[in-house]
Amino acid sequence: MRNPGRTSATWTKYSTGRRSRQRASRLAAFVALILAAATGIAAAVVLFELRMPARLGPALSGAEIDDVAVADLCVYVQKCSHLGAPDLPARRVQSLLARGTSRGRNAATSTTSPSRASLAREAHQMVLSENGGEWESAFHQSRIERIACVLAMAAGDRPESYRVTLLDTTQTNAVSTADGRIYITRGLVTTSTDDEIAMVLAHEMHHIRSGHWYSWWSPDAEDAGGAGWEDARPDPVSEAARALADLGVDALSGEATTSYAQEFEADARGVLLASMCGYDGRQMYNVLTRLPSMPVTSHPSVAHRIAGVAKVLDAMGDPGWISSHDPVKVAVRSVETAMRRGAMYRPGVSGEAPGLPDVARVCQETLDWLDATESEMIGFRWLGAGRALSGRGRVLGRAVVITSSLSVVDVAVDTGFVHATAGKPGVVCGRTWLIRRRGVWEPVAAQVLPGKRFAAPEWLTFKDELRGVVAPGPKDVECDALRTAQMWRDTAVSDFAGHLAVYALEAIGWARFLGSRHAELRAWSVRCETHSPTLATVAFSSGLTIDGLPISSNSTRLTLVLEDGQWKVAQVNLD
Ligand SMILES: [Zn+2]
Repeated sequence: MRNPGRTSATWTKYSTGRRSRQRASRLAAFVALILAAATGIAAAVVLFELRMPARLGPALSGAEIDDVAVADLCVYVQKCSHLGAPDLPARRVQSLLARGTSRGRNAATSTTSPSRASLAREAHQMVLSENGGEWESAFHQSRIERIACVLAMAAGDRPESYRVTLLDTTQTNAVSTADGRIYITRGLVTTSTDDEIAMVLAHEMHHIRSGHWYSWWSPDAEDAGGAGWEDARPDPVSEAARALADLGVDALSGEATTSYAQEFEADARGVLLASMCGYDGRQMYNVLTRLPSMPVTSHPSVAHRIAGVAKVLDAMGDPGWISSHDPVKVAVRSVETAMRRGAMYRPGVSGEAPGLPDVARVCQETLDWLDATESEMIGFRWLGAGRALSGRGRVLGRAVVITSSLSVVDVAVDTGFVHATAGKPGVVCGRTWLIRRRGVWEPVAAQVLPGKRFAAPEWLTFKDELRGVVAPGPKDVECDALRTAQMWRDTAVSDFAGHLAVYALEAIGWARFLGSRHAELRAWSVRCETHSPTLATVAFSSGLTIDGLPISSNSTRLTLVLEDGQWKVAQVNLD
């Protein structure tokens, strides 16, 4: 009985000491005040440290960046990384450039005159009514705007001078109008990779910014768009185009007048712009072969267009041209070189920069993860490997900023094993800062970006639209079909036996492999169509992650039939 006695005595001692309680609370308040003040001071110090040096702003917007500014920039980038704000420098530079008055043309033909504005409205309505109206997909809209924004900035245009509209049709096509609208069909968006979409957007952007449409647009628009674009402040893409024209690519001379020549020019310029932003130019071949046949009076044949694109891509392989005009490729090669050298920073060695070895290390870790996953897949006899999974060519770059003298490039690893038609399955490992001095691009600083960042950030921000399909209501049939689709989707990654009937044989190993890992399949842009009381299709874009990393994305179409009062999956189509 001793213990309870002692406890109660202790309790009494503390519970009755009012004065000591007051003292304790005063002490607590004092400590809290000191802590708050310390936090405030620390926050102020951090904010002060995170400020971009005032003299850096004008230096970065200039045509040539001197050594002092480069040193300032490196210190600033590293400081922000250490203080936990790695994104801040690139964001500051972006807003700095956006504010710059000399930069950012409005690419589209002006629609200020009433006649032109009404023509623009008419054209818009015509395109919509002939192509199934507007398709609303938040996922694909944000995906396309992400790509369009980088392309516009790299070309020296204000991103808001282009407006992208999705058309609700299964055709694969894209068109643009002189007022800066670009239309892309659902059929093209849901079956195209980010690289292919970048090629399409860059092609249409060139038609718009060069005023290719004014001949049919309206006679009085002739003075607005068009020929003037070369006279504006040189942007890095125009400079690069001129250099390629000097290497013998006629289509880049910017003198196209006939519609044939304008198509060649838009292809060439589109491939150049998208490639300079880090997209794979060879995917233009896929785009060209998938487009519907165009009228021969206005468009060259697909074979001729492919030959034209091949000429551009050949010329872009010129080493001299790359070092002067392709900062993304320079960044990727620097990281690859650092990976081969075992990620060592050697000060004074050209092409090396502080931070680069760290980025190389993170890239290598991601590639090692991919290798391990591949070995495991082989162990499961997964036969569906669409391509060889070697490290070669899996490091890629995406421009965040491109000006004539400064470039910021995100370096990522392509983690996709198979389909990649609903966004790029890739992980961003780091960011490289490049400066062009004496006409040559050179990495000057690099930073590791913490956390898992997907090359297509929409993967993280959009919810799974097939999960929790709405309760039965007036559209019962649609709900039932959607629930069947959800069930099919959820078991497709674990229950291979249940899917034998509709899967190809090679998918068995795939499903067994996925069943042993933490696999997640998310769906976007779900679309259900009931063709008759017993026949429905459910189409959706989806992305697959394994252990949190994206590995594949595609578009799926399920054909559902009603049998004995139950919807069953009769056919599966993957794009
Ligand atoms: Zn065209």
